[in-house]
Amino acid sequence: MITIDGSKGEGGGQVLRYAAGLSLITGEPFTIENIRGGRKKPGMMRQHVTALEAACAIGNAEASGLAVGSDTLTFRPGAVTPGEYHFAVGTAGSTGMVLQAILGPLMLADGPSKVVIEGGTHASFAPPFEFTANTLLPLLSQMGPKVTATLERHGFYPRGGGRIAVEFEPAGLRPVDFIERGELLATSAEALVAGIPFDVADRELKTAHKVLTDWPDEAFGPVQLPAEHGPGNALLLTAQFDRVTEVVSGIGQVGVTAEKVGKTTAKRMAGYLASGAFAGPYLQDQLLLPFALAGGGAFTTVKISEHSRTAMELIERFTGTSFRVSAGPAKSQRIEVVR
Ligand code: ATP
Repeated sequence: MITIDGSKGEGGGQVLRYAAGLSLITGEPFTIENIRGGRKKPGMMRQHVTALEAACAIGNAEASGLAVGSDTLTFRPGAVTPGEYHFAVGTAGSTGMVLQAILGPLMLADGPSKVVIEGGTHASFAPPFEFTANTLLPLLSQMGPKVTATLERHGFYPRGGGRIAVEFEPAGLRPVDFIERGELLATSAEALVAGIPFDVADRELKTAHKVLTDWPDEAFGPVQLPAEHGPGNALLLTAQFDRVTEVVSGIGQVGVTAEKVGKTTAKRMAGYLASGAFAGPYLQDQLLLPFALAGGGAFTTVKISEHSRTAMELIERFTGTSFRVSAGPAKSQRIEVVR
């Protein structure tokens, strides 16, 4: 039984999801205390409960303390059973985050699965659908398991109501090196608007273009979604390289101008483009688990995040696999699996 202090390191919900995934893969039970102890409102929120319920369902696991507001949980894994599943967060809580808890176990299971998840698809501080589908999953496919995701309906905060479908064709993970991102093949900037004034999209794109000056005019396009999918807005900037596609996102919020969303999101993309690194700040923590399970390989990335440091420690406790961080080419960092 592994005991985790959920207030250590990043102190957020990610440690809970990654622990559930690792527990199902390794068969090791765990207890976590001080769940989300680093956050203003500690304890589990609805999306964390749904993620853990999903882990219990696919892994025949037993959990005690699984409730909104709970700050302690004990999780005992059973056998992972591939199949068809449907999970609903019930709020705008992130569908991509629920997927984080079950992705590892289902991509290594002994048969295919199809999972439908309902909730938010474009929320702040969470992977938007396009990041999961276009950045993360194609890289996992290069490592072995084929995982594909389809967006069936958009869901924004606070209403939610989005739906994604994820199909898994499991295979063992093989070690890979993700060092060079290769040539830049295409760029695109999409501003999604649902049930809010269309000029928000135009203003975001115009401001983003002022930062990403060498992106062609044709790369910038507003996308009007059905009003009943909203209200909501997201700016999605995509840089497709030969070996990796980075999606940088900004979510519109009441009280934040379209210009601010456009500028800050574009500056984050500009930072990634200037870095020469393979993995951006979010792909970084999401690659650690598959790399550890592959038992080898290395990737380059931007500055190491607290999310990643916390995940590295957790992964080492469950699997015994650790990581070495060193300086990579240009100003990048290199993360390597050490067995
Ligand atoms: P909390 O509410 O406690 O912050 P959480 O479960 O909502 O908890 P974190 O623990 O902060 O969230 O974990 C966030 C996860 O979402 C990380 O894996 C991070 O890489 C990912 N993530 C956050 N923002 C983005 C983004 N813009 N694009 C891709 N992934 C993202």
